[in-house]
Amino acid sequence: MSSFTLPDYTLSEQQVPQFQCAVLPQSEKEALKAQIAQRLDALGAVLIAHYYVDGEVQDLAEATGGFVSDSLEMARFGRDHAADTVIVAGVRFMGETAKILSPAKRVFMPTLEAECSLDLGCPPDEFAAFRAAHPDRTVVVYANTSAEVKAQSDWVVTSSCALEIVAHLRDQGEKILWAPDKHLGRYIQTQTNADMLIWSGACVVHDEFKLKALLDLKKVYPAAAVLVHPESPAAVTGIADAVGSTSAIIKAASQMPNDTFIVATDKGIFHKLKQLNPSKRFIEAPTAGDGATCRSCAHCPWMAMNELQTLDRLLRDETYRAGCEIHVGDDIGERAKIPLDRMLAFQRGV
Ligand code: SF4
Repeated sequence: MSSFTLPDYTLSEQQVPQFQCAVLPQSEKEALKAQIAQRLDALGAVLIAHYYVDGEVQDLAEATGGFVSDSLEMARFGRDHAADTVIVAGVRFMGETAKILSPAKRVFMPTLEAECSLDLGCPPDEFAAFRAAHPDRTVVVYANTSAEVKAQSDWVVTSSCALEIVAHLRDQGEKILWAPDKHLGRYIQTQTNADMLIWSGACVVHDEFKLKALLDLKKVYPAAAVLVHPESPAAVTGIADAVGSTSAIIKAASQMPNDTFIVATDKGIFHKLKQLNPSKRFIEAPTAGDGATCRSCAHCPWMAMNELQTLDRLLRDETYRAGCEIHVGDDIGERAKIPLDRMLAFQRGV
């Protein structure tokens, strides 16, 4: 029996920043966007954004030859793009993943303060103790972890490939140690019946979706389909019409015949959902409160830090930029690349 007792790694409200986005007039936004586009060009840099960041930043990424997607596709795009400089609008683990896959490129983020509660809730030293207490298990970590935690793993997965990879490991008779998201871990365990020991982290956004309020909303919109990200609690995924990653939610909204959807994931995704489905209606799934705290506003406070103004500062202020570069030590980077490459090879069917 292991002597390691797993504490609860869910962040408290006090540990989550209360980030307020600045509201700019449209004319100022357009001027900033034009300036940023010019500077990206002058630097020879490509901008890659996550579906959860400000819609203006997403549009700018696409308009300047960059890309908007989930964390895995962002890193893959950054690796395969000809640019030597990659700007990642997202959270820190995404910048690190881009750097690990492209060690020769320079990777910057608008701010390195953009963290993730799952990454913060899985400290590398404590994770090492957990792993050491269970040497018989194959270590599978979610992409939302630091480079140090990835370097300790056998597999890295994203929410778009986690089910297939865990089912594959189960078929090989492997027992799994999973970290850090407890809801995603339990969802995968339920779907695959794999033997999984699960870390106890949570996403501060998805952890807040509430079943009762969702059922009440369903009564108001009975024809609406409910789309849920698997980082949400089991009670919420349990009543979903479709459960999946950000990319899977976007695909489901386009493919399902419904014209109204209740969506349980970060509200940044609504920008792309509306853009791709202008005739459909998208409603936010209810959270714990009414915007009283960042824990209950269905918008990640760290993703919100990727503002146009910060991006502009990154590109025009060399001193600021020097503090926003992603560095991953060679040894950690090489070790973390192994499970990342394994995931990419699995997806290609190699
Ligand atoms: S939405 Fe949740 S999982 Fe995504 S970056 Fe924010 S805290 Fe992390």
